[in-house]
Amino acid sequence: MASGNWYDSAIEGVLLDITGVLYNSTDEGGVPIPGSIEAVKRLKASGVRVRFCTNETQCTRQQLVDKLQRLGFELSVPEVFAPAPAACQLLKARGLTPHLLVYPGVLPEFEAFDLGAKPTCVVVGDAADIFNYETMNNTFRKLLEMDPPVLISMGVGKYYRHGGELMLDVGPFTKALEYAVRCEAIVVGKPDRNFFLGALQDMGVQPQNAIMVGDDIVNDVGGAQKCGLKGLQVRTGKFRPSDEHHPEVRPDGFVENLAHAVDLLLQHRKK
Ligand SMILES: [Mg+2]
Repeated sequence: MASGNWYDSAIEGVLLDITGVLYNSTDEGGVPIPGSIEAVKRLKASGVRVRFCTNETQCTRQQLVDKLQRLGFELSVPEVFAPAPAACQLLKARGLTPHLLVYPGVLPEFEAFDLGAKPTCVVVGDAADIFNYETMNNTFRKLLEMDPPVLISMGVGKYYRHGGELMLDVGPFTKALEYAVRCEAIVVGKPDRNFFLGALQDMGVQPQNAIMVGDDIVNDVGGAQKCGLKGLQVRTGKFRPSDEHHPEVRPDGFVENLAHAVDLLLQHRKK
């Protein structure tokens, strides 16, 4: 761990991961992680700027916000940064037409694009049980028809926790496609640098005055650290004890959960 405590620096802005930090997702929707609803409220009331940085790609931002509000969280769509809107920006900027390998819930984010037209790129998200031999083969063939193949991946997470079980995330499927067609995916969402910088810019906070709180040691913590933010690892969500001696990423701190992080941060600010 770096010398000094993560909360000793002047923190003006906090980026919060959602799944595994605010709540644990389940088939029934989700269960708030104890203390997180109050922690978000306390953080916002303190004047620290807050944005939510998620790699959730199974639903639209609006659906995600609606779900979290029902659980009791105070947040709004403009505060949420998610990969699908970032992918749409990239598609528009480059004039690309996507073939989508995504979960149906996220399709409304892509309504501006003609999904019946000949695709000039593939966008892959966490498609969950839509990932199968047929859909992967179909997507593989679409990539082969492009010269060069253009693969856009909404995050590259290895796994996440859902309903108490670890589930394969989009990353392993993106890697399979990269391997098959010999290309390198363009990543939107965490850990892409532009994704973190976009959220910081929206808050008006410099990287050295910001901290990312997440349960994914590589994409949340490591990704943020590469952008100059501090990265804080919670021991909730997909956290595993092996993260405490990860071969590549050393978080600026470990906390039991979001409430613990906010306690430390606000105690320090009051001094
Ligand atoms: Mg997470």
